Amino acid sequence: MDISILLCKEEAKKEKPEDSKLSFGKMFTDHMFFMHYREGKWQDPRIIPYQPFEMDPACSVLHYSQEIFEGMKAFQHPDGSIHMFRPYENAERMNLSADRMCMPKINKDLFVKAISELIRVDKEWAPNSPGTSLYIRPTMIASETFIGLRPSNEFYFYVILAPVGPFFKDGFSPTQAFVAAENVRATPGGTGEAKTGGNYAATLYESKKARDLGYPMVIWLDSIERRYVEEGSGMNIMFVIDGEIYTPPLGGTILRGITRKSIMELATNLGIKVHEERLDINTIIEKISDGSCSEAFFVGTAASITPIGKIYFKEKEYEVNSNEVGDVAQQLYDELVGIQTGKIKDEFSWTYKVA
Ligand SMILES: *Cc1c(COP(=O)(O)O)cnc(C)c1O
Repeated sequence: MDISILLCKEEAKKEKPEDSKLSFGKMFTDHMFFMHYREGKWQDPRIIPYQPFEMDPACSVLHYSQEIFEGMKAFQHPDGSIHMFRPYENAERMNLSADRMCMPKINKDLFVKAISELIRVDKEWAPNSPGTSLYIRPTMIASETFIGLRPSNEFYFYVILAPVGPFFKDGFSPTQAFVAAENVRATPGGTGEAKTGGNYAATLYESKKARDLGYPMVIWLDSIERRYVEEGSGMNIMFVIDGEIYTPPLGGTILRGITRKSIMELATNLGIKVHEERLDINTIIEKISDGSCSEAFFVGTAASITPIGKIYFKEKEYEVNSNEVGDVAQQLYDELVGIQTGKIKDEFSWTYKVA
């Protein structure tokens, strides 16, 4: 791929945070990648100082949410080199989301090259303490100025970087999850499989209710029978039943997580059997109660693996694995994070060196 990316450097550098003070997604690096789509093609890819953009109030994304995004991470290895995790998987998923939302595709090599160059420019921002990483947020928005219900003819694609600490401030420890009773996240034929803003806006109401009751996470059920477990609002879900892993199959309403896919491959490689099966929440609750379901955890880029210690379902709370981190979650976490951070040999070629 030979598209050259213009570099326009920021002179006034921001102060970098100490690793120990990092939170999630509140601070961004000095530069961003930007290009626009006009007259049927992506134009003028460039790395520019991080900055707000000006938008007409009639800009179409602001009215009808034609927008998609990705979430990825880069990690600093012990030798100081910086590696992304499976970036071509994100490039491919971004294009799937683009297709569903009538947005233009991006050449996958350009996608990876744009992010790689941006990381190289801002590499001093990559933190290296345990639990930290450089979060990468590629975003595409409809930028044409008009009010009307049709796909935009113009788009912005940009990438911003955020040095981040642990997604949950307690790090790798059990969280509490609330099974959505009132709302659904996605529906067959809808946009659940696309990483598009509207899906997340749709989760806010139930998530707020859950949080008010002390549950940071929501578990979504299918929209037809309201009993099959789908996923979290931004993470996939897995259960350990009789020592084997169960996760709902992808079927259009569930985001095809790259962490999900990686964990499935890792588990298989470790000799743990993995099943993709529809999981009735009532059965899961029974199996949690009788102890045959020994672990539940969320999987996603933001927090890698998050054990679930308590599940709230129909006015009752159920404890999973005595609210402790389970062995399977721990083993998979150590493997995944070990590979991402360069502490374990990457026999899958998942890490992609950028600097
Ligand atoms: C991003 C996301 C995931 C996790 O995907 P990863 O590629 O593992 O980060 C899962 N579910 C939803 C709804 C998501 O938005």
